[in-house]
Amino acid sequence: MVIVMKFGGSSVADATCMRHVLELVREALPRGPLIVLSAMGKTTDALFRASRLAERGHLEEALAESRALYAKHRVAAEELLPRGLPLDLVAQLDGQREELELLLRGVALLRELSPRTMDAIASQGERLSTLLFSRYLGEADVQGEWFDARDVLRTDGSFGAAQPDLEQIRALAHENLKPLLCAGRCVVTQGYIGATVQGFTTTLGRGGSDYSASLLGAALGAEEVQIWTDVEGVLTADPRMIPAAQPIAELSFAEAAELAAFGAKVLHPATIQPAIDADIPVTVRHTMRPHGRHTLIRSQRAIEALPKSTTPRPPITALASRGPITVLTLTSTRMFHQSGYLARVFDVFGRVGVSVDLVVTAEVSVSCTIEADAPLEALVRELSRFATIEVAQQRAIVAVVGARMKDTPGLVSRIFGALGDIAPELVSLGGNEINLSLVVPQDAAPVALRRLHHAFFEAGDRS
Ligand code: ADP
Ligand code: ASP
Ligand code: MG
Repeated sequence: MVIVMKFGGSSVADATCMRHVLELVREALPRGPLIVLSAMGKTTDALFRASRLAERGHLEEALAESRALYAKHRVAAEELLPRGLPLDLVAQLDGQREELELLLRGVALLRELSPRTMDAIASQGERLSTLLFSRYLGEADVQGEWFDARDVLRTDGSFGAAQPDLEQIRALAHENLKPLLCAGRCVVTQGYIGATVQGFTTTLGRGGSDYSASLLGAALGAEEVQIWTDVEGVLTADPRMIPAAQPIAELSFAEAAELAAFGAKVLHPATIQPAIDADIPVTVRHTMRPHGRHTLIRSQRAIEALPKSTTPRPPITALASRGPITVLTLTSTRMFHQSGYLARVFDVFGRVGVSVDLVVTAEVSVSCTIEADAPLEALVRELSRFATIEVAQQRAIVAVVGARMKDTPGLVSRIFGALGDIAPELVSLGGNEINLSLVVPQDAAPVALRRLHHAFFEAGDRS
């Protein structure tokens, strides 16, 4: 049995943070941990910035970003290895810098940044952070080695949002990774990045290291996937919007998946599915407060098997929000009693390559929410062939999530009561009855969250 420990960008932001992470790894060594690291804080943003500068032809500025980035890694390396940088490490760092510069020059020359090139550039962050950390292991007398995630994390070629090939990942993990994992030592690998069967570097999308951790954990049959970050677990709301948000001790997989899908940035939206498939608990922990509170995410069955807690818990577990989004309302009197109407509508979304989040249907209309950057013109053009389309932009989804919601009579009216004068434009109660999603104007979302959080988590209303 192994455990997976994933450390996010703020947890490996500089040498001091990396030293701290190493102590957590040292403590976990008897469990033969697989360490999955993000890029050092803000590195991926810098790589995106540099790429876009190069694409616009601003090569000098792009190279300046790249130099600053390497200087930051070099400083961290010198702090971690105070006896001097080994020559091969210097050569590796230089090699990676040259690769990045070459890529940026190519982008600037062609004024073209394809998703494939972007992924090759974005992968630098995780490759650098893991390179530094794995070299630091030796300095700190911890047994372990660097491993290239691209040798295991097989994906398709959807660069920028690559889809993992679960079967291949499992087979490759057993062949290449498992033999390296044993009690007393660790393996350090990159989150976020993978490779196609042809060997092209891919990424799983921003924030994808959490997903890497759960994919690798599931492939290896790990006993636990630990997500180490800068909060004491999943909180009752986004702490940047609700400072009074509280850590949640325990969440079901379904609740965590809903929260992640509806904007709780602490987990990449796809993180939970591999954990569900392999039934592996996921914990979310604070790197700087390892002995503080944390969240345990596991199956509802496992939660129900526990003796019931006597402390009352609020009927809702947490809130999340996501915006801006766009709402499309299709109205067609022909829809009434027509079989295959929705299939035709969704076929258009499929062809245009737009994914739909919420769908609410009424007798003669269907409303769908889509991402704000979806190709609206193409969609409206296609859909107008069989419906009148209304478009509402600058909207947000406020999601109220909780497995106990369905057992709480009158909850919906309490939610509406708490919202006061904010009238949701759409309401959708998911079939699993653990997510009530409300669509409100984007600028009303923070107030809606504050009112709901106050009513359910701060005002002593826990019945
Ligand atoms: P990492 O770099 O470790 O992956 P992220 O920044 O991706 O960290 O995710 C952690 C951040 O997610 C927190 O600092 C917090 O601001 C934000 N966040 C949003 N919603 C929630 C929530 N419900 N619970 C905890 N954190 C949340
Ligand atoms: N470094 C990547 C990002 O910033 C992946 C991650 O941190 O999870 O998006
Ligand atoms: Mg993250």
